[in-house]
Amino acid sequence: MKQTENFSDLLRQLDTLNEVLRISNKRHYELLEVISDGFATINREWCFTFINKSMEKIFEGKRQDLLGESLWSVFPIDSHPGIYNNFCSTMNELRVVMFQEYSPKFNKYLLFSGYPSKDGISIFSQDVTEQVRMVEALMGSEDRFQLLANNIREVFWIASPNMEEWYYVSPATKHILGFDNVEFEEKILEFWQYVNPDDLQKVKNAWRQMRERETIVEFRYQQPNQPMQWIRGKGQPVFKDGTLDVIVGITEDITKIIEREELLSRSEKLSTVGQLAAGVAHEIRNPLTSIKGFLQIIQSEGTVPSTYTSIMLDELDRIESIVNEFLFLAKPQQEIKLTVQPFKPILEQVIGLMQGEANLKGIEIIVELDDLSSLKVRGNANHLKQVFVNLIKNAMEAIQNKGKIKIIGQVNRENSTLTVIVIDDGPGITKERLKKLGEPFYSTKEKGTGLGLMITRKLLEDHEGELFFESEIGKGTVVHVNLPFIE
Ligand code: ADP
Ligand code: MG
Repeated sequence: MKQTENFSDLLRQLDTLNEVLRISNKRHYELLEVISDGFATINREWCFTFINKSMEKIFEGKRQDLLGESLWSVFPIDSHPGIYNNFCSTMNELRVVMFQEYSPKFNKYLLFSGYPSKDGISIFSQDVTEQVRMVEALMGSEDRFQLLANNIREVFWIASPNMEEWYYVSPATKHILGFDNVEFEEKILEFWQYVNPDDLQKVKNAWRQMRERETIVEFRYQQPNQPMQWIRGKGQPVFKDGTLDVIVGITEDITKIIEREELLSRSEKLSTVGQLAAGVAHEIRNPLTSIKGFLQIIQSEGTVPSTYTSIMLDELDRIESIVNEFLFLAKPQQEIKLTVQPFKPILEQVIGLMQGEANLKGIEIIVELDDLSSLKVRGNANHLKQVFVNLIKNAMEAIQNKGKIKIIGQVNRENSTLTVIVIDDGPGITKERLKKLGEPFYSTKEKGTGLGLMITRKLLEDHEGELFFESEIGKGTVVHVNLPFIE
């Protein structure tokens, strides 16, 4: 009796236990049903025994159709080798696996984890397509950012509000400012050293102002053993929730732009002078002719001492020559006639013309023109003569007394250009002055017009030629004239 009682008691207990288990199982499955991760169980024959709602979505099917089907009907092995290999190791080697696989069938990135169970495998899965795409897009934009940062010639940067921490400085800083972007913070003192002292305060003020509004500053920057650069910095504050967060900006090398501006203003000056010359020269030339004529009559009559008249005539000659130089400038409007002709005789005539004056001053002219023998140029002989008269005259005036002028002809057949080099051993030209050569009225001579080189340049331009100067103080000056030739 006791035994049966005990037995039925046991059965009852077992029932309760079963019920508890059922409920907990139910709860368990209920729980698995509602979780956002996909969940499925498969038996040792790879067939689905349970599929939750989220997994239905991932498999894009109804669970009543899928239950009892093979995992490999959902994920064909040949197109999902990763899933196959991973779950095989869970099934056969009881390994817990976690992996991500792209399913071409569903066009989804799926994250799987597999746990061995006594009946087979439990699988959790998440559709991570969106995240992967986002990361891909981010990676893409990161790549694009790097592409920009590495290839844009301007430096762009992000700094802390006090400009002491530099959160980002792009690699172009190396070729603009002269140091690596990564060492920018340490090299900031060097940066300040290279800023031209006259611009230092301006740059500092601008930096301060960048905290309040967009600010642009242009300054000169001198790295050791480098040509002077012009730098333009532009920066502006970025606010976050009303407080200054960072300062962002761009730094660029504008040396070329500034040089171009200078060139432009010079050619503007040139054309203004040219226009002026046209008007003024004609106005002066006419009265000049009559004054000169009368003066010659007075001189022949002898009523005024000839020393006076000859000084007056000399001075008038000078005025006339200036006026004529002016008139050269007025010419550009008119077509000049260019003809093909041998080049060497033109130069030889000029040298012949200058020889007398050179002898008087004790200047030796050394000529090496053999290379030019067979070359012709398309040009205007008088204008070309004027070019070399101007240059040789300058050389002689620079030497003043005793010295050497070398005139050398060279040929560059690769680009069909001949070069005439005029070398003098005069005092040379300083760097600052070298820049000003060719500007109208720039002269260091008491009686200079400062028009010679400008005219020379202009005439050479008409001949598609070029003019270059090299000079060293105390050693002398080398002038290169390049002209296209015809053989
Ligand atoms: P000008 O001869 O009337 O002064 P230019 O235009 O011919 O005008 O020359 C301008 C200036 O360039 C000269 O005054 C001189 O200072 C400088 N210069 C030109 N050629 C030389 C040279 N060979 N050596 C030194 N200085 C030169
Ligand atoms: Mg001159």
